[in-house]
Amino acid sequence: MRDEVGFFNFSIYKIISKEQSYLDQARIRLLYYGFFLVFVASGVLFVSVYFQGQHLLAYTAGLLMFSVAVLFKTLTYRPKWQAISHALLVIGTLINISIVYVSLQSINVVTLQVVIVVIVFSYYMLGQTWGLVYSLLNTVPILIFLLIEYQGSYVIGIKPDKIDQATIIISLFASFILLIFIHNHFYTSFLKNIKQLKESGEEQAVLNLKLEKAIEKAEKSTRAKSDFLSTMSHEIRTPLNAVIGMSNLLMMDSPRPEQKENLEILRFSANNLLAIVNDVLDFNKIESGKLVFENIRFNLVELMDNVCGGQMLNAEEKGLEFKLAIDDRLKNKVFFGDPTRITQIIFNLVSNAIKFTHKGSVWVKVTCLEDRHNWVTVKFSVMDTGIGIKETNLRSILEPFTQGSLAATREYGGTGLGLAIVKRLLDLQGREIQIFSKIGEGSEFLFNMEFPVSTERPAKKVDEPTEKTPENFLASLKVLIAEDNVVNVMLMKKLLSKWGIIPTIAENGERAVEFMQYGNFDIILMDLQMPVMNGFDATNEIRKMADPKKANVPIIALTASAMAEIKDKVYEAGMNGYVSKPFKPDDLIEKIQSLTILN
Ligand code: ADP
Repeated sequence: MRDEVGFFNFSIYKIISKEQSYLDQARIRLLYYGFFLVFVASGVLFVSVYFQGQHLLAYTAGLLMFSVAVLFKTLTYRPKWQAISHALLVIGTLINISIVYVSLQSINVVTLQVVIVVIVFSYYMLGQTWGLVYSLLNTVPILIFLLIEYQGSYVIGIKPDKIDQATIIISLFASFILLIFIHNHFYTSFLKNIKQLKESGEEQAVLNLKLEKAIEKAEKSTRAKSDFLSTMSHEIRTPLNAVIGMSNLLMMDSPRPEQKENLEILRFSANNLLAIVNDVLDFNKIESGKLVFENIRFNLVELMDNVCGGQMLNAEEKGLEFKLAIDDRLKNKVFFGDPTRITQIIFNLVSNAIKFTHKGSVWVKVTCLEDRHNWVTVKFSVMDTGIGIKETNLRSILEPFTQGSLAATREYGGTGLGLAIVKRLLDLQGREIQIFSKIGEGSEFLFNMEFPVSTERPAKKVDEPTEKTPENFLASLKVLIAEDNVVNVMLMKKLLSKWGIIPTIAENGERAVEFMQYGNFDIILMDLQMPVMNGFDATNEIRKMADPKKANVPIIALTASAMAEIKDKVYEAGMNGYVSKPFKPDDLIEKIQSLTILN
């Protein structure tokens, strides 16, 4: 309905609104034009019966004219068509009954015709339930009247009017016109409604198709973005590997003090750059849904010691007190979970705590909240007495690429990805991070995690490569390196020479297989992406060799690729280990030791 119609409005266009369905519009039109017809018909009837001196009928026709005029005005002023229809039907029903029982005291063809109009009108205007109600209200009294009259016992103290032929003709004529008008109107709008439904169905189908295409496009571009980032990571990490590796080597070469200082800056910046690349990659991995959580055995206390051990030094360098408090109930327990991801979460939170604290302390607390049979709930908390976070920023800092403030970005650097990664890693495990902070006083980051507990005793650190192996053992190792990048080859050679190892170099996978056929090697360091034959195919060839010693030679994959599935692929291809470039020299040598000592 339109709000702007005034009291003196008589136009139908002003009371029909575009939002209404075709059927409702048809209902309003039906009332509007129907009122005209009924008004004219009752006017003619009034004149006819009045001049014949049929007073009861004249009153009835007059009442009908008056009611119709009032309802018409109501419709053109406030088109509440349901209420108006009810009013019209109630008046119609009362008139019908009064004609049968009082005015005429008989039933004739006009009565029946009017009942039919009422039935059709009530169904079309108000639907099934009200249609049935008004139909019964009009037919039952007539049937009752017929029964009473049949028994000859209908007596009333009013003299009935006699209806003449002219009145019958006028009434029949009016009701025929009304019936035809109602049906015709409704049928047209019914067809229109079906057409509209069909059209909106077609529109919906077109929209769905567009939507599907848009989703497909978005997915494609996300995939392209993610692939691009992975490729870029490889491209960036390869030279970065050389920079970090070379600076490590130079540091081992007892540099002069001023050279050492420069080297430290070089190493720090390269490591920083690597951390940023890794953050972007991790975030990309999570966002593209490629992250799969591991469920392996680990000792939480050892893990926390390891993560915080390195950070403790950083805190001490800044003159901060660093405390790690672990609940005694968690000691000597082995859990199932993903230690890599827990490390990543704690590492990010602790690094931030140290980064944003100038004096005071950083406190990492691990508490056992609940210890059921084979499940524990652990609360992790990282607290600091640092700069704090504005309350308005508490939510936004969890969003990617969002930092506390521009000034903070300039002062502390970073990508604004650390907390976004933490949040997403926790989200994916159905956990939530809580942050409490006060500007100038410090912050606390909290989250809970549940772990299934392994029933086995914690493994003793027998296979940890902390055991010192004699220097000459390493020096005696025959190492084959399959690597096409000249800088990397140079780097590896220099690195291994520190342990007295002189490696053999194969410039691609095919050469590595040939070397294996003709020579004896204790271990292979295999780059994965090489020309002619890649690392996977070369491993495959080697594993097929007839000599069991050669076929089972330990192979460590070396790659700068950061693709999520690469680790699984490496093990699937039959390699024994995986070192991601750029690696720390100690990591590589530990891997070599653990694999060769076992053999
Ligand atoms: P980045 O550290 O690379 O800036 P993060 O996502 O780790 O990115 O952190 C986002 C922002 O949250 C930081 O820039 C900093 O403003 C704020 N923040 C995070 N941890 C702390 C903390 N412990 N104390 C104060 N501010 C913090």
